[in-house]
Amino acid sequence: MNIGLITLFQKDRHPAPPGHPESAERMSHAVDELLKSELADSITVLSPEPVDDNCIYRVHDKDYLHRAESIASSGGGFIDPDTYLSETSFEAAMETASAAVYAVNAIMKGDYRRIFLAGRPPGHHAEYNCGMGFCVINNTAVAAENLVYNHGLKRVAIIDWDVHHGNGTQRIFYSRNDVLYISLHRFPFYPGSGATSERGEGDGEGYTLNIPLPAGTGDDVYLTAFEKQIIPALNDYRPEFIIIGAGFDAHRDDPLGGMNVSDKAFGAMTSFLVKTADTHCGGRILSLFEGGYNPTANARSLYHHVKELQKN
Ligand SMILES: [Zn+2]
Repeated sequence: MNIGLITLFQKDRHPAPPGHPESAERMSHAVDELLKSELADSITVLSPEPVDDNCIYRVHDKDYLHRAESIASSGGGFIDPDTYLSETSFEAAMETASAAVYAVNAIMKGDYRRIFLAGRPPGHHAEYNCGMGFCVINNTAVAAENLVYNHGLKRVAIIDWDVHHGNGTQRIFYSRNDVLYISLHRFPFYPGSGATSERGEGDGEGYTLNIPLPAGTGDDVYLTAFEKQIIPALNDYRPEFIIIGAGFDAHRDDPLGGMNVSDKAFGAMTSFLVKTADTHCGGRILSLFEGGYNPTANARSLYHHVKELQKN
């Protein structure tokens, strides 16, 4: 099956400070390799067009966005100890978040069943009123909110397998049941959240599923979690759309993650979600590149991820 690919590496507009792991190369190398593989025959590279970005302002505080914009436009600076904005980083972050909206709209229109967005800066640590952990705007949350607010969906599932807990995404939807947030992550680890006891609150009670895992966890435990916990939860929820937070920093060769996941396991996890999407929501999946700091490991993991996304 043909899938859509959007790349916004933002190498010039959102440059990494010297020695910083969140660089354009970690993504661009992986995508370059993907486009040299046989999978490229079934990939259409898309150029996002301008969209209504109202959902960026629904998942983030306007004062925070203005603050980030003014830090950037006045020459740049850090918005948290890990997160640097250059003069053009805010525009880059807005463009990447808008591309997530564009991708959702393209899938909802029926142009593509699946799209992969490789865009920087990443998003899942960005909270309602602050950026952190390399993240400025929560692209995943913006995509999910667009599905609910602009497309009227009532059940959107996010599965975030980045090695770090997506504190921002969790918090944004914590008291809602129209977005189910599922995360597998190393624990205890940055950013500190993601205990099993964090299950949502109010209407959102039971619509956050955290699967904290010890350092060094490998394929067996990840795949068992999909089989025994994640897929049953999704079958209960019957999502109308699936969003994947595809970080590849749980890979065994990642310099930051400390886990033991193989390239192929990213394919196996994808396969579970493809089958679930085919059962419940006409196969609709948007996958977003989050973390992943070894360009070579990212390339191998992305290959297996996309190979499964292309299957019916
Ligand atoms: Zn991460």
